[in-house]
Amino acid sequence: GDVLLEVEGLKKHFPMRTKGIIRRPTDPVKAVDGISFTLRKGETLGVVGESGCGKSTAGRTVLQLLEPTAGTIRYQGRDITGLKGGDLRRLRTEMQMVFQDPYGSLNPRQSVGAIIGAPFAIQGIEPTGGVRSAVQGLMQRVGLNPEHYNRYPHEFSGGQRQRIGIARAIALRPSLIVCDEPVSALDVSIQAQVVNLLEDVQNEFDLTYIFVAHDLSVVRHISDRVAVMYLGKIMEVADRDELYANPLHPYTQALLSAVPLPDPRKEHKRSRILLTGDLPSPVNPPSGCVFHTRCPRYKKELDDTQRERCVSEVPVQTSHGPDHEVACHFAGPASLDVM
Ligand code: SF4
Ligand code: MG
Repeated sequence: GDVLLEVEGLKKHFPMRTKGIIRRPTDPVKAVDGISFTLRKGETLGVVGESGCGKSTAGRTVLQLLEPTAGTIRYQGRDITGLKGGDLRRLRTEMQMVFQDPYGSLNPRQSVGAIIGAPFAIQGIEPTGGVRSAVQGLMQRVGLNPEHYNRYPHEFSGGQRQRIGIARAIALRPSLIVCDEPVSALDVSIQAQVVNLLEDVQNEFDLTYIFVAHDLSVVRHISDRVAVMYLGKIMEVADRDELYANPLHPYTQALLSAVPLPDPRKEHKRSRILLTGDLPSPVNPPSGCVFHTRCPRYKKELDDTQRERCVSEVPVQTSHGPDHEVACHFAGPASLDVM
């Protein structure tokens, strides 16, 4: 399909606050450190990785809820990086966010009607038929009772609150929604309902999603393509089926080896790839390939010359077939002896 969004070399570094009277410059937290991807109209790009890998920050920076440190974001061919004021506000009619914690992201002192109607007020838009009827239509659409218009967030369950968040996100008919772990805080029994709702409104309103999550099963279900992040970088990005069937990055292979198989009878045929060592600090990430301190391939398969390359040279995202990019000098299928 058509490209909706192109992200190139995107970085988000957070300055560290120094304590005490003497202010010293310190190294920033490199939460997102040079990621590139494209997003096609109508698709869902899953973004996965352990907590602290920068996936939520990446989503927020793409929407410019956080100001990018470097890189470019092109939306429908137009460079939107660093838009401010009215330009940025107008962009919000195109791009919205659904947050992980539906309660934390909803103002407890506002009625649900005011929360869902807020985007109209912020944009100065008067929907046909009035705000109240538009909001009640949205409530109905996401499976809430429109008569509960005057209720407050605490009167709703977690799943209903996430429906409120979704109604607010679709109010302005955006093209792109970043869903930041939208079901992680919900009971497993509720998760599927919310995922189904997201899929329904995606089809109905022709939405494109960036779906940030750590649950690889949910991501597999909802995504067309998947990006795997580690320490602020994309390790591998590919078509969903390709990524799950043929992961070429040792990190992706390790993550996938820990996901329960849909058919438990096949479970005995594989082994887990265990990652040893702690996640390094994003303030001082390892040199060369940021994954080398934990990489099973580095530890068990490579010779000294090859290792030297992992330690000294940053691997860039390289094409390994149609719609499959890998950032590893020695990309390839997992060998049996690391498993
Ligand atoms: Fe492992 Fe080296 Fe590939 Fe990094 S570049 S993932 S350390 S094999
Ligand atoms: Mg997060």
